[in-house]
Amino acid sequence: MSRPDLPVSADVVVIGGGVMGLSAACHLAEAGVERVVVLERGPLGGGSTVKAAGGVRATFSDPLNIALAMRSLDALEQFGSERDQEIDLHRVGYLFLLDDPSDVETFTRDAELQQQMGLPSRMVSVQEAGRLSPLVRAEGLLGAMFSPRGGHCAPESVVLGYARAARRAGATILTDSPATGLQMAGEEILGVHTAAGTIATSTVVCAAGAWSREVGRWAGVDLPVEPLRRQVAITEPVPGLDPQTPFTIDFSTSFYLHGEGQGLLMGLPERRDSWGFDQSREPRWLEDLAEAIEHRAPSLADVGIAAGWAGLYEMTPDCNALIGRSATVSGLVYACGFSGHGFLMGPAVGEVVRDLVLGARPFVDVGALAVERFADSTTRPETAII
Ligand SMILES: Cc1cc2nc3c(=O)[nH]c(=O)nc-3n(C[C@H](O)[C@H](O)[C@H](O)COP(=O)(O)OP(=O)(O)OC[C@H]3O[C@@H](n4cnc5c(N)ncnc54)[C@H](O)[C@@H]3O)c2cc1C
Repeated sequence: MSRPDLPVSADVVVIGGGVMGLSAACHLAEAGVERVVVLERGPLGGGSTVKAAGGVRATFSDPLNIALAMRSLDALEQFGSERDQEIDLHRVGYLFLLDDPSDVETFTRDAELQQQMGLPSRMVSVQEAGRLSPLVRAEGLLGAMFSPRGGHCAPESVVLGYARAARRAGATILTDSPATGLQMAGEEILGVHTAAGTIATSTVVCAAGAWSREVGRWAGVDLPVEPLRRQVAITEPVPGLDPQTPFTIDFSTSFYLHGEGQGLLMGLPERRDSWGFDQSREPRWLEDLAEAIEHRAPSLADVGIAAGWAGLYEMTPDCNALIGRSATVSGLVYACGFSGHGFLMGPAVGEVVRDLVLGARPFVDVGALAVERFADSTTRPETAII
């Protein structure tokens, strides 16, 4: 299959046109890298990014994640003015509901760390949690953590914004264009194969989300990323819904909700983890969702479900991202394995990828997120995830 728009060579080929690949391409092109090519095998954002609940926050346990996420929040707050693209950012904050004494302890520590780093997170009483998120039934709760910075925005718009800015800065973005392999000479990358031909390049960015392990394999690099299905539902309009309802998470069940138009978006892990690439909806999940609603937000029990979908988290063994330049194949830079919190990391990680490619010092040292941590047993667990 020939494709006249397939470049014969590139300075950098980015594999994956989700938030990570597009943010990276945008930052590379804006930094003056002339021939940046993005290969996306489907539509832009069509992997996990447009399936995301849109939550943006910096409420993590790992200081590196807090730093990356705060940088992303800066970028998202400026997206409309800087990138001429509205992203429907609702700055309603994040509320974690806690019913386990050890979680209260952990979140108290996390909130202190976040405060030290400049994020105004704080522990709140059960009564205040109920005031902040009026749909919540407080029974069994011991406390909550609230972080007023953050909220949710539209992943499709962020994708569009980065794609437009990347193209404007000279990048080539090809959709319906799967990469099918790498042309290697030992540990050197010579090119990226596609069905339409090979693009000669010495530098590849793996931003293939849940599919990254295959891309790593082409280079002989193990990127331990495994797909895990997650589902969300959108409700019918909810009468009297408080537009300031924070992104609310019942931490022990991981049931979450936030406003979506006149209704709510709600999510919950499946009762039994469904590993693999299957993205079909599992009808029994709705029964589990009904149970979670009954438990934590019973006033919603009669609200209808209008729509829903399933998508993939891209899990690593310690639920933390893989970001770095391969120690063996120096032409391979990777940014993947965000374990379900990658949408909010996209803006900052795009900057970091740019710097890794250019050999510049990123705004934060991401060395601890290199894949070699698994060989050294220096894993870096992130605990504030759902
Ligand atoms: C239900 C759900 C809710 C979520 N909610 C949130 C949230 O609230 N906040 C948050 O931060 N994160 C959330 N996430 C996680 C978030 O969606 C991901 O972490 C993030 O989108 C990862 O972005 P990415 O660009 O790395 O991956 P993707 O968006 O998956 O992009 C990777 C792209 O690579 C392409 N690709 C793969 N292989 C090839 C190939 N060989 N050639 C060419 N292209 C290829 C794929 O088609 C895909 O489009 C959620 C995820 C799900 C499923």
